[in-house]
Amino acid sequence: MINDAHCHFFSSRFLELLAPDTGGADEIAFRLQWEPPGTPTELGDRWVTELDRHGVSRAALIASVPGDAVSVAEAVAHHPHRFVGFFMHNPMGLDSEAALERAFQGLHLKAVCLFPAMHGYRLDDEVVEPVFRLASEHGAAVFVHCGVLTVGVRKKLGLASRFDLRLGDPLAVARIALGFPQVPVIIPHFGAGFFREALMAADQCPTIHLDTSSSNSWIKFDSGLSIEHVFRTALAVVGPSRLLFGTDSSFFPRGWQTGIYAEQQRILGAIGARAADRDAIFGGNFDRLFPA
Ligand SMILES: [Zn+2]
Repeated sequence: MINDAHCHFFSSRFLELLAPDTGGADEIAFRLQWEPPGTPTELGDRWVTELDRHGVSRAALIASVPGDAVSVAEAVAHHPHRFVGFFMHNPMGLDSEAALERAFQGLHLKAVCLFPAMHGYRLDDEVVEPVFRLASEHGAAVFVHCGVLTVGVRKKLGLASRFDLRLGDPLAVARIALGFPQVPVIIPHFGAGFFREALMAADQCPTIHLDTSSSNSWIKFDSGLSIEHVFRTALAVVGPSRLLFGTDSSFFPRGWQTGIYAEQQRILGAIGARAADRDAIFGGNFDRLFPA
C-alpha cells in the first residue's frame, strides 16, 4: 500500500492568487506549459486517475497559497477516501483564527501548513499559538516547512521570493509542539537542510514526524551526505513510525513522481529496512495520522 503525504493541489484559483497580474488560470497554465487545472472537481478527478495509474491509495493534497483551502476541500469532498486536505495558512493574516476555524470546521481539512520563511514570522511569535490550539481542538495536524525553500512555480513566473530561511528552524518547531501533545507535527523533506536540527527536534518532541518528500537536493549542503545516510540516520533517531513517505508531486502533465517512490524503495531495501518498517513509512503511518 502506498500513501503520499505530500502533493500540491495547483488549482485554477491557486494560479490566480499566486500571480494576480498574469491573466487568468488558463493563460498562466499555458505559460507554464501545464495542463489547465479546470475546476477543483476536474483536477481532483485528474488526481484520482493518476493515483490509480500508479497504485497509490491515498494522498495529502496541499492548498498551496493562503485562500485556496476551498479548492482542496471540494476535491476532498468528491473523493473522501482518496484525499486528505492540507492548506497553507499565514498566521499573520488579519482574520487568521476565523480562516482556521473555517478550514477545520467548515471545510474538514486535516492539516494546516505553515511557511514561516515565506510569510516572515517567528515560530515563537504569539500568532502561532492559536494555530496549534485550533489544530488541537479540531484533531488536526500542523505541517511546518523548515530549511531551504524554493517554489518552482514562483521562479518560473518570475515572482519575487524574498524568503528568510532563518525563520524555518526545526528547533523552534519542537518548542511550540511540546506544548500541544495531541497535535501531530510534520516537518517535510527531513528538515530541508536542517537535518541535524530536525533529528534533534524529533528526538526531543515525540509528536514530530518527518516527511521524505522531493528529491531532497538539500543534501548538497552537506558534503558527502547521501540519501541512504539520511534514511539510515532518520530510522535510527526518529524511528520508522514517524517517517512519512511523500513525493512533492504537483502539476500535470508531469503528474505523480514515480521516480521518487522507486528511489526511496530502493534505498530502504539497500539499507536493509524491515518490511514492516517500510510498510509503515510508505502507508501505515499516514493512515494512523489521517484515518480514512
Ligand atoms: Zn512541497
